[in-house]
Amino acid sequence: MNRALFSKHVELKNIRITDSFWLAETELVRKEVIPYQYEALHDRIEGAAKSFAVENFVKAGRVVRALKEGREAPVFPADKWCYDDKNAHPDAFHGWVFQDSDVYKWLESAAYSLSNFPDAQLEKKADEIISLVCDAQLENGYLDTLYVINNREEIFSNLKDFHELYCFGHLAEAAVAYYNSTGKRQLLDAACRFADLICDTFGEEKIRGYGGHEIAELALVKLYDATGEKKYLDAAEFFINERGKKPYYYDLVLGRKTVEDNYHYNQAHCEPRKQNEAVGHAVRGVYLYSGMADVAKRCGDAELYDACKKLIENIINKKMYVTGGIGSTVDGEAFSFDYDLPNDLAYAETCASIGLIFFIRRMLEIEPNADIADAAERALYNTVLSGMAQDGKSFFYVNPLEVLPEASHKDSRKRHVKPARQKWFGCACCPPNLARMISSIGEYCFTENEETLFIHQYIGCEAECANARIRVVSDYVRNGRVSIDINPKRAFTLALRIPEWCREYSFSMPCEIRNGYAYFEIGSAVTLEAEFEMTVRMIKCSNMVRDNVGKVAVARGPIVYCIEEADNGKNLQLLRISKNPDFRLDGEDILADGFREKEKTVLYSEWKEAEEEAVTLRLIPYYKWGNRGENEMSVYIRI
Ligand SMILES: [Zn+2]
Repeated sequence: MNRALFSKHVELKNIRITDSFWLAETELVRKEVIPYQYEALHDRIEGAAKSFAVENFVKAGRVVRALKEGREAPVFPADKWCYDDKNAHPDAFHGWVFQDSDVYKWLESAAYSLSNFPDAQLEKKADEIISLVCDAQLENGYLDTLYVINNREEIFSNLKDFHELYCFGHLAEAAVAYYNSTGKRQLLDAACRFADLICDTFGEEKIRGYGGHEIAELALVKLYDATGEKKYLDAAEFFINERGKKPYYYDLVLGRKTVEDNYHYNQAHCEPRKQNEAVGHAVRGVYLYSGMADVAKRCGDAELYDACKKLIENIINKKMYVTGGIGSTVDGEAFSFDYDLPNDLAYAETCASIGLIFFIRRMLEIEPNADIADAAERALYNTVLSGMAQDGKSFFYVNPLEVLPEASHKDSRKRHVKPARQKWFGCACCPPNLARMISSIGEYCFTENEETLFIHQYIGCEAECANARIRVVSDYVRNGRVSIDINPKRAFTLALRIPEWCREYSFSMPCEIRNGYAYFEIGSAVTLEAEFEMTVRMIKCSNMVRDNVGKVAVARGPIVYCIEEADNGKNLQLLRISKNPDFRLDGEDILADGFREKEKTVLYSEWKEAEEEAVTLRLIPYYKWGNRGENEMSVYIRI
């Protein structure tokens, strides 16, 4: 590893988003999503699945108080994933085992939002929730409402399936975010007390276990960065090194024989540093890989970094949709095999693309790499944005590239593919994950070290970087133009990512092009104008992807497009795009020359050249699909 290439992202508190495209999204999160989710966590949204999340903290707080006062606290079973029995005891835990994490993700989003937009009322709500969280912490630092409420004796007894270390991870992320944004330590102290307990419990001479759903690894590194407490970094490293070691910890606990296949789902089939293919549950995977990159950088672990490089290359070259979606099968919400990217059966969970962006930022902090920064852009502008409705009130969990509503309703293999966004799910991982990603979008724009400031994403903002104060005025999404006012604090190099989709680009200053970045020497205040030509293009997918042979996807700049029934009529499979379509822009839509084949309802007949009529296809940005009621949608079009 070349330490000279190491860099750090610019912290959110030093960035103010001014970009009209992204400000609309961050405002949506601030004004709609965060208040809506606050209500959802309190079970006050009519018609939405109940969360029980805040209720569980209140119940756990009662248990902790009882124990402190030396009173008996009841015991209930803690033996399943979802506690949805309507006849369950009212004092018992309700909801999914990971329900606490929704509260933490909400707190994290609120923290990011507060750092951009101080809001006394929101801060008061967050403080109240933090008090509830802290009241639910056992004296020894343990904090997970399922076990606090239901059974204190069984804490850490099922690391593989029950999400205590996962919930800890989200707690730590929220705590660091809230501390950075408000300077308040209450939640950070609670997270550190839980982390201390984890450090005391797990280790070489202690319990040699690790979480079934990763995230504690990256979260412990965040706590280490925030506090300088080395044992947190050591614990993250321990969890990574212990994972996948034989005999498997989970087998020892469960008293059964080693079966490697059992642990692909948890990326525990072999030691992470020996992994070279992304497998298993996609969100777990990218969370683990993020933690691996964090640890590799801080410990100078070249072997671990090498595994990270192989994993990211496998994802972006063989397992990622053109929309930046990852995890192509519903079976385990998982990565499948190379080039297996079905459009209509896709899983492509919103959270997985968010996690991919987390992973990529960490990789860029080790070494700049335009190819992987491009993949973050792909995920961000397509799958991540698609996850949320234009009104911020409903969400996609699964992000397919082709939808036939009738199939979603009638074919159980496609039941996971929803033709319309949902209000709130009981298992609500994606909406709060979206909120925290969008409200912290500034953290994904830059990385810098003492010599170089990299701009990876062109989002309009004002940023106080170590090398310079800069103002980015961006019309990147609309026409590829970016203007950057630079006020240097010292002589430094500015590096701009050249997007992979861009054939022609120009800069107002001389530069050197290396590995997908344009490097500029900056000595005094200057305004740099960049223009990335943004023609509409047709994308061919590898012919190893069976679904896409004879088809193309259409994109302009970072935005991938799709066709919808609302614009193009039923039976999108009958449409074909011309080989030389005369693309026209109509607002954000693209019009293209194409053909519609005549419908043939006779099942079999002798082959003849198809009868077609010329039509104009209307394409809309993929992230906007599904905002006009249930209808057919397709990203790939026959050519
Ligand atoms: Zn999710």
